[in-house]
Amino acid sequence: MLEVSELSISFHRLDRHYRPIHTVAIHKLELSIEAGEILAVVGSSGSGKSLLAHAILGILPRNAQVTGTINFKGEKLTADRQQSLRGKDIALIPQSVQYLDPLMRVGDQVKQAVRRGDPAVLQQKAFNKYKLSDFVAKLFPFQLSGGMARKILVSTATVSGAQLLIADEPTPGLDPSSMRETLGRFKQLAEEGCAVMLITHDIEAALTIADRIAVLYAGTVVEIASRSDFTGDGERLRHPYTQALWRALPGNGFVPLPGAQPLPDALPTGCVFAPRCALATSECEQFPPESRTVRSGRVRCIHSA
Ligand code: SF4
Repeated sequence: MLEVSELSISFHRLDRHYRPIHTVAIHKLELSIEAGEILAVVGSSGSGKSLLAHAILGILPRNAQVTGTINFKGEKLTADRQQSLRGKDIALIPQSVQYLDPLMRVGDQVKQAVRRGDPAVLQQKAFNKYKLSDFVAKLFPFQLSGGMARKILVSTATVSGAQLLIADEPTPGLDPSSMRETLGRFKQLAEEGCAVMLITHDIEAALTIADRIAVLYAGTVVEIASRSDFTGDGERLRHPYTQALWRALPGNGFVPLPGAQPLPDALPTGCVFAPRCALATSECEQFPPESRTVRSGRVRCIHSA
């Protein structure tokens, strides 16, 4: 359904002395999602997760320079195609409920997203599916609880009949039961044939529903692994950063990873993880590692075997 290859996104801007700065926020990123699959894109804040979503939707800021290719259903996603597919075949569930129109009743907002079929019938169906009472349709966004607002966002994306759904950090602030319910909805959509990209910093939540996990670090995917690779001490994982993420979970030893992710305008010359990597050798500092297949997953680490 979606194939991203060699995607790089950079920005030109001026610093406070009006000197030009070129920042590479995403570099040589690759991933793919099949119909009916959930791919979680996991990474910490500043790793480039939302930029990736915005690049697929064609809603990057105007000073962004994009290279590489994004294919949707085997065909290149040009700016014209992005515009015609956005909100229809490709839908975003945004991070913030502020994306709802504050002046329109939420029922009308859901109806407005319908592209094929009877808007009233589909809105009602979505409300039934997500256990939203009829009166909610008449409310304005400011009258909704956090849980209701999220259900409205999911309803809006699903009534559009999208074949690719991008959910950008849909779970922060949700209590455990609402989180389970939200994630369960994505699972249901995937079972109905939708390709789902779940963007999150919460690897534990991702592992409850994702088929595969793409780990993003400093603007590039360092590993793509199956959910089943996240087991034991992390010995089946291929990249030291993914192993560190896994071992930092409370159930897996709570082992902290010293250091911080480099900023986009201060990336190391070689492997982006080298300054924090216990396995780094002088070779790792020469060139950024290419992505390669190791044990049916993808990894950017020259020493992974
Ligand atoms: S390439 Fe080297 S520095 Fe980078 S993750 Fe692998 S071992 Fe560590």
